[in-house]
Amino acid sequence: MINIPDNGLRALSQRGSYWMSGEKLQIYLYPSSVPHRTKIAQVYVHWLRDTSLSFEFVSDPRDSDIRILYKAGGSWSYVGSDALVISKSKPTMQIGWTGKDVLYHEVGHSLGLLHEHQNPDGGIEWNSDVVYRELALPPNNWDRRTIEHNVLNAVNPTTVDNTAFDQNSVMMYFFPDSWVANGPGTHENGVPSVMDLEHIVSLYPKPIDNEVKDFIRDFPKIRTLQATHLKYAAAALGLSTAGNKRELQTRLRTYLNR
Ligand SMILES: [Zn+2]
Repeated sequence: MINIPDNGLRALSQRGSYWMSGEKLQIYLYPSSVPHRTKIAQVYVHWLRDTSLSFEFVSDPRDSDIRILYKAGGSWSYVGSDALVISKSKPTMQIGWTGKDVLYHEVGHSLGLLHEHQNPDGGIEWNSDVVYRELALPPNNWDRRTIEHNVLNAVNPTTVDNTAFDQNSVMMYFFPDSWVANGPGTHENGVPSVMDLEHIVSLYPKPIDNEVKDFIRDFPKIRTLQATHLKYAAAALGLSTAGNKRELQTRLRTYLNR
C-alpha cells in the first residue's frame, strides 16, 4: 500500500500546494535512487509533457525542490510545493518498492495530486468496519487516524480542484468489493489516466500564442472544443480553469460577452 507522512496531512487538501507556472523542478536523487534515474525521468516527462513545468536533476540536495529516496518500507510523497518547506537534508518522496506504477502515483503527489478515492465527487460509501479491520492487519498495520487520512476521509471540496470521479486514475488505490457499500470496489491503475493528465494540464497550462487566442475568440468553436482545450483557453485569458466542460464554456462565453 501507499502512505503519506502524517505531516503531509495539513496540506493534503490545500490549493496552495501547486508549483508556480513555468517552474523547472529541481530533483535530487539519493545514491539509492540513481539506478532508477532513467525511469524517474520517463515518469516526469510523461506527467509533464503538455504542461508549462519542466524538471532537471541536480547533484546537490541544497539546490533541490524534490528529493527522491529509494528505501524499503513504504512509498509516499509530499503533495506538490509542500516539499519546499521540508529540510533539504530529508527526502520529500520515498519509493519502497520498484514498479513503474508506484512511481507514477508518487510523482502525481509531487505535482499536487491527491488520492482519487478521496475525491468529494467519488461518492464511495465505505464498509468502514471492514476497512478499519483489514488495514489494521499486516502489511499496513495502520492506526485509525492513518486509515481515515489515507482512505476514509473525503477531502474538503472547498479546498481542492477536482474533476469528476475517475475510476482509472493512477491516484486510486485498489479496494476489494467487500470494502465498499454502494457498489463494486476499485482497481489499481498503472499509468496516469486521460483525466489525470488533463487535470495536470489544467493546473499547469502552457502559455498560448496569439493565433490560439484568436481561435478561442471565434465563438462557434467553443462548443466543439474538448475540456482540455477549454482549460487552455481559460488559462490563456487569465480565467479560472476549475470546473467541468459546461462551466468552462459558460465562463468563456461570459468573458467574451456572447
Ligand atoms: Zn498516495
